[in-house]
Amino acid sequence: MRPAITCEIHGKQRRAYVCEHVVSVFSGAQPSGFVWRRDDEGEYEALCSACTHMAPAEWEANMPRLAREVCLECFAEAGRRNGILWPNDANT
Ligand SMILES: [Zn+2]
Ligand SMILES: [Zn+2]
Repeated sequence: MRPAITCEIHGKQRRAYVCEHVVSVFSGAQPSGFVWRRDDEGEYEALCSACTHMAPAEWEANMPRLAREVCLECFAEAGRRNGILWPNDANT
């Protein structure tokens, strides 16, 4: 597992990876899709619809500019704003 990240809002949390369009919902942008998966190490990643549809080579070229690290709570919240319902949300 990768090292924890310290979030300004949520404190020390698991690290997750997104594209900048996913986190732009926090600065007022319209939700642009949230296609998530867990990578080979079980870490959470999510891309917006546009980034998901990039060819692998195109994504590789753009990743340094577009990739962002967020805490897992921010990741979950970005998902909710895109209509994702997480299993644990049913209990709250
Ligand atoms: Zn994107
Ligand atoms: Zn956070």
